[in-house]
Amino acid sequence: MALEKTLVLLKPGTVQRALVGEVINRFERKGLRIAGLKMMQLTDAILSEHYAHLADKPFFQRVKDSMMACPVVALCLEGVDAIEVVRTLAGPTNGRKAPAGTIRGDYSMSFQENIVHASDGPETARAEVARFFRPEEIYDWTPNNRLSTYANDEF
Ligand code: ADP
Repeated sequence: MALEKTLVLLKPGTVQRALVGEVINRFERKGLRIAGLKMMQLTDAILSEHYAHLADKPFFQRVKDSMMACPVVALCLEGVDAIEVVRTLAGPTNGRKAPAGTIRGDYSMSFQENIVHASDGPETARAEVARFFRPEEIYDWTPNNRLSTYANDEF
């Protein structure tokens, strides 16, 4: 159990389909704290770094092009075990297979156009938050309802 920060990107398809508010609402109502939030136009350079693990895949360039189609919304979310919690809310990569109730399961019909990116582990979360946010863009405000969100030994 650890208080963690994780990186979420609302992909261009989410912006185009006007689902930004709805998807952010899913994270807020779960109890995650918004530590950072901004819109940004991604570049081939930042995406080549971000998706380096896909460099040898045939769809590498197509995925990068899709991520540059319009600005994305970047979020840094914080909570106890936030990395795993956010991955669970997002659901499996392929939107057609993702269970109903997950974000991808509820809003996506596609393997590629799957609404959100979410960090997949502590090391990637640290690297990804630093990749998309400058330190002064991350705000460490204290939610005044913490004891309604967690027991006092949970955070
Ligand atoms: P995730 O985003 O679930 O962590 P990956 O890191 O494996 O998944 O892939 C990054 C992104 O690349 C996915 O979110 C999806 O948009 C795209 N992608 C991955 N695998 C495929 C695939 N087989 N076909 C099309 N797009 C894919």
